[in-house]
Amino acid sequence: MKIRNPFSGAYDYELMEDSSQDILEKTKNIRAAQREWKLRSIEDRVAILKKWIISFTEFQSEITDQLAIDTARKRIAKVEAGGIIGLMQAWSYRAPQLYNPPPHRASASANTVQIGQQWVPYDVVGVISPWNFPLLLALIDTIPALLAGCGVLLKPSEVTPRFMDGLEKSINAVPELSRVLKLVRGGAEAGKAVVNNSDAICFTGSVPTGKKIGAVCAERFIPAFLELGGKDPAIVLKDADLEVATDAVLRSAVGATGQACQSLERIYVDHSLYEDFVQLITEKAIKVTLTTDGHTGQMGPLIFEQQAEKIQEQIDDALAKGAKVLTGGQVKTINGGLWCEPTILINVDHTMKVMTEETFGPLVPIMAFSNEEQALDLANDSIYGLSASVFSQDIEKAITIGSQIEAGAISINDGSLTNKVYDAEKNSFKDSGINGSRMGDAGFLRFFRKKALLIQTAHPETMANFEETPS
Ligand code: NAD
Repeated sequence: MKIRNPFSGAYDYELMEDSSQDILEKTKNIRAAQREWKLRSIEDRVAILKKWIISFTEFQSEITDQLAIDTARKRIAKVEAGGIIGLMQAWSYRAPQLYNPPPHRASASANTVQIGQQWVPYDVVGVISPWNFPLLLALIDTIPALLAGCGVLLKPSEVTPRFMDGLEKSINAVPELSRVLKLVRGGAEAGKAVVNNSDAICFTGSVPTGKKIGAVCAERFIPAFLELGGKDPAIVLKDADLEVATDAVLRSAVGATGQACQSLERIYVDHSLYEDFVQLITEKAIKVTLTTDGHTGQMGPLIFEQQAEKIQEQIDDALAKGAKVLTGGQVKTINGGLWCEPTILINVDHTMKVMTEETFGPLVPIMAFSNEEQALDLANDSIYGLSASVFSQDIEKAITIGSQIEAGAISINDGSLTNKVYDAEKNSFKDSGINGSRMGDAGFLRFFRKKALLIQTAHPETMANFEETPS
């Protein structure tokens, strides 16, 4: 597979795909090693994870450099790699506190029976991840799954695969780990093989792929933890601080070139503030610089060609239906890369794709609302329910509004706080996903099945004691 470089547009990397036979072999090896891995104490597994922290640190600059080419983002690549070490440390501390199967006890409903409670990890968890934060999203579920005692078959996106080379070296430097954590290279076919060989799936990606994977998992009768796309709304109430709201909305909408699931993608502003909001955010958007020279700037190119096409399609659709562009408004090719400036759109409505379909790019469509009820109707008029924002200086009011938005996480007076806060449990609502929270304690606890050992301490009941009549 030839892989495109998002900065130059050149196909300058070759990805050797794993065949389904390779993936089957890897799974068999993980299964064999996981029998021992799950029997280790949690402290033992933490000790091995700590060895990985050391080897990851040794290869960190290599991983970061490769990731920076994958994504054309040097600063974010550093943040991602640093964040992984933080995640490993945080789970090393928290997982042993959480691993706490209750002691043997007498049953309250059958007092001669003793209950022994075990927590049994899934043998092989398949992790399938997208291209927008390739390292973070490859490991966010992998780390707690490993600590729970699962083996992990990990397939990152084929769009951004370079970082896997360094990551694999860091894994191979810890032999106990390399036996239970294996990387899979490839695209949809490899992903399908991962789904077919695993005992539980953690998938992060688009709604259409998530639905396909969910259907296969249902057929195979294995759990699917699906973290999918979003179309996050922001509601800016009439008493919002305009500087706060415009700064937060712009950063959330165009940071990482809008290629984040929790980017704000549709903005609803109280009519009394609308004109001032639009003017201020446009002034700020114009000042955002692109990193076209390769050294300076704030916003990188679009990573994935097909996404760039969707973004242009949404702009064209909105313009054809009467929207107006105040700044930006076009995907451009510069030295082979695909770029889009922050694009403020007004005169938009829900007949337009830009208000209803995930964009995954730096577009900021803004609509006025006349009352809170209408704002909530608009925010909830979506198939998605990932997250949302509310801006108001009255926190109680913001909480009241936020509580009525159909989404799993609400940032108040900021945007996309879920990319900073890892210890608040949240579910994805509607088509944005299904099953236990990846954040907070549930992010670890969801990898166990509860098993009951029921020990009879008295003579069992005998058939002689049974008496039955038909009526
Ligand atoms: P995608 O669905 O196209 O691909 C994701 C992964 O699935 C890739 O590794 C791909 O190779 C694999 N895949 C594709 N078809 C498959 C199949 N039939 N079976 C198994 N695996 C298959 O998504 P993408 O374009 O890589 O990522 C962008 C999407 O991810 C956006 O919708 C974004 O919102 C979402 N996302 C969600 C979150 C979240 O936490 N909710 C975080 C980041 C990104």
